[in-house]
Amino acid sequence: MPFQETNGLRYYSFDIFSKAVKQAVFTRHGGVSPTPWHSLNLGGSVGDDPARVAQNRLRVFNALGSDPASIHDVWLVHGTDIVYADAPRPLEQPSAKADILFTDNPAVSLYMRFGDCVPILFHDPKKKVIGIAHAGWLGTLRGVAQAAVDGMRSRYGCKPEDIVAGIGPSIGVDHYEVGADVITQFQEKYSEDADQILQTRNGSTYLDLWTANAIQLQKAGVEQIQVSSLCTACNLGDWFSHRAEQGKTGRFGAIMAIA
Ligand SMILES: [Zn+2]
Repeated sequence: MPFQETNGLRYYSFDIFSKAVKQAVFTRHGGVSPTPWHSLNLGGSVGDDPARVAQNRLRVFNALGSDPASIHDVWLVHGTDIVYADAPRPLEQPSAKADILFTDNPAVSLYMRFGDCVPILFHDPKKKVIGIAHAGWLGTLRGVAQAAVDGMRSRYGCKPEDIVAGIGPSIGVDHYEVGADVITQFQEKYSEDADQILQTRNGSTYLDLWTANAIQLQKAGVEQIQVSSLCTACNLGDWFSHRAEQGKTGRFGAIMAIA
């Protein structure tokens, strides 16, 4: 079963990753925040009390049996910059601005927050490298999945065919209507593949971020890809959705560590 539960915290784990990694995408269940962040909000910039966010973060680490001080996270900016986390990040230091995070240090827990954007988790079992990337429409357009694979190759010597990738809970094509400007940019970037990621229904156009990122990974040579196919907007009981909740919501967390 992809869902597990510990102390009231329910989380999704990809089947495709081996036991050599700890990996979880936490649902919104099991935290201390009230509406509209109920309940496991991990976002510090959505109006929730920082003390509650810190309490929720502790619960997440405890549920996985991980040291809260092993955390390394980034300030998400919808770009393609990479942080190579050689050590945990002291929480009193400001986080770097980046949307891709890698480590090969078992003392580091990679931590990232989401609320419709696509979590992409990476593992190379041969080089013992893990990573998380954040891919909203803009990051996808800028090539964040491609940049992540490039980073694994250049920094750690990974071979794309050894890389395992999971595309996690995020807004699905059924709920992601986009406008003319976004449509044009994706048509230009994906050219002959654009038909696979732009769907037209009743005169509206919808963007398939899961397929868009899977195509980027495949073009970069990644063969082992699992898509969770869980839409945040379809499942508001489990996930925060910025779009479906009109911005009045929280952020859920993805964590990865070398076991
Ligand atoms: Zn949906």
